[in-house]
Amino acid sequence: MIYVVGSGPAGVSCAMALVNQGLEVTMLDAGIELEPERQQILQRMRASKREDWDAASLGMLTGRTSANINGIPVKYVYGSDYPYREADRYIPIEGKHVVGSPSLARGGFSNAWGATSLPYLSSDIADWPISAADLAPHYEAVLSFVPLSATRDALAATFPPYSNAFNPLRPGRQASAFLKDLNYSHDPLRKAGIAFGQSRLAVRAETTGDGPGCVYCGLCMYGCPYGLIYNSSSTVARLQRTNNFHYVKDVVVQKVVEEKGQVQILVQSRLNQEKLTFAGARVYLACGVWSTTKILLESLEAYGHPVTMKDSQYFLFPLLRYRKAGDVVKEDLYTLAQVFLDITDERLGGNTVHLEVCTYNDLYLRAIKGILGPTYPLFRWPVGEFLGRLLIIQGFLHSNVSRAISVRLQPSNAGSTSRLVLEALPNERTRQAIRGVLAKLFAHRRYTKAVPLPIPLHIAEPGRSFHSGGTFPMRSKPSDYESDVLGRPRGFERVHVVDATTFPSIPATTITLSLMANAHRIAAAYHQT
Ligand SMILES: Cc1cc2nc3c(=O)[nH]c(=O)nc-3n(C[C@H](O)[C@H](O)[C@H](O)COP(=O)(O)OP(=O)(O)OC[C@H]3O[C@@H](n4cnc5c(N)ncnc54)[C@H](O)[C@@H]3O)c2cc1C
Ligand code: SF4
Repeated sequence: MIYVVGSGPAGVSCAMALVNQGLEVTMLDAGIELEPERQQILQRMRASKREDWDAASLGMLTGRTSANINGIPVKYVYGSDYPYREADRYIPIEGKHVVGSPSLARGGFSNAWGATSLPYLSSDIADWPISAADLAPHYEAVLSFVPLSATRDALAATFPPYSNAFNPLRPGRQASAFLKDLNYSHDPLRKAGIAFGQSRLAVRAETTGDGPGCVYCGLCMYGCPYGLIYNSSSTVARLQRTNNFHYVKDVVVQKVVEEKGQVQILVQSRLNQEKLTFAGARVYLACGVWSTTKILLESLEAYGHPVTMKDSQYFLFPLLRYRKAGDVVKEDLYTLAQVFLDITDERLGGNTVHLEVCTYNDLYLRAIKGILGPTYPLFRWPVGEFLGRLLIIQGFLHSNVSRAISVRLQPSNAGSTSRLVLEALPNERTRQAIRGVLAKLFAHRRYTKAVPLPIPLHIAEPGRSFHSGGTFPMRSKPSDYESDVLGRPRGFERVHVVDATTFPSIPATTITLSLMANAHRIAAAYHQT
């Protein structure tokens, strides 16, 4: 038997590639799901039209999520924290000024993600032992089962869409006006190293054989009631319809051991804490970088040995447009990122800086109302003027100019679980690069017709981007704590790591599509191993 551990984006990509080769696969998964009562409410919403959704159901969806000037502290999904639940218990993590957050959910963090999907450029993975050309056929394979909202625009000149089967979501008024201004100044922006275009999102924009398309209800940040934002759990359901795929949930893998031409997978049941062992020919680990790192360190008994996690630095700032778009508060729109700006500039480190432009969503108004309190009605008009101009930029840097995280495994004692201990590793280029991004946008304001506001500028803790990896980096000739190009950490023959744990560096241009392509690449090479 071949085992894949984890049902997140990496796990399902890997399983798809294996099953498509006619191999028999068992997926082991912690597999936490949305609570049944919330699932029932969702089923009712899914079966009805948007106009018929009742206030109680909408309240269930939106009630717990809030935003402040640092973004959304916890992104609840359908009002629930199930993507984050029990992680503290099985993968305890401690560290100051660092975010380390695993998911034990069926579908992993694809339950909560923002669905932005841009491939890596060869120039951004120059330190990898594989190139963008090696990933290309696997981007195509992944996009045959993941929907893509995209259009053939200026962005395609730099970032191939790797698919012909895409449909664009309809940009909102703010995004349309912004894209119009950017297109008008295409040449000077291009010359300045600023590529732009409509966002690329793993979302089913239009009706297909899989179901209806987007109704522009604006609820994306709370969880799409119609399930149009790609969730790898849907690929698990698809795989379950084939005979050679089996799904075992409620198990948490703790350790892998190779012996006698087999790999033993030691797990703990989530239901009764019983310890179990599975044995197979090969195992593919796709537990997300935190959990996979813990399993590997535990398996190597590498207690106290530090490994370095690379991270793509996340930052957030407002961009204020000169002209407002009318009445955004009442507009029907989607609320994921609407526009991408991708900057290449030697002064910013030379690698792509990826900016995601978010237009109005109701969390902004809720945050402003929270600040103004009962005086809000006095400010209704200026708030409307402000919101019509306000764009929020989520920025990501390449890991070369980002802070990193030192990770050590502290052994269990007195019955407690072993824990990951984290420490932030400074990078003096990070602030400089972020300041450079704002300065560059300010210098090109006549083309973007917008000014970046340095206040509030939020520079998040390392790990907060959720675009992290690289504790066992791929090398053509791996040393200890490194992996070969098929994701096998040195010392293992039958254990492949297929999530971002093996990424030698983390480019800024969104991580998930590339980790899916890489997982597919490794599993597609099964017969070469
Ligand atoms: C709020 C948020 C927004 C994001 N937005 C974006 C975005 O817009 N674009 C983008 O590219 N990325 C985004 N990301 C990051 C993206 O979600 C992750 O890159 C992606 O989910 C990683 O996939 P994975 O399969 O490696 O791991 P995960 O998604 O973490 O899945 C891990 C899987 O392994 C299982 N598992 C874990 N440990 C064990 C264990 N010990 N035993 C058994 N099973 C286990 C879990 O149950 C789960 O099924 C975002 C993340 C978050 C949290
Ligand atoms: S706007 Fe967002 S939440 Fe609403 S249907 Fe479209 S994708 Fe789903």
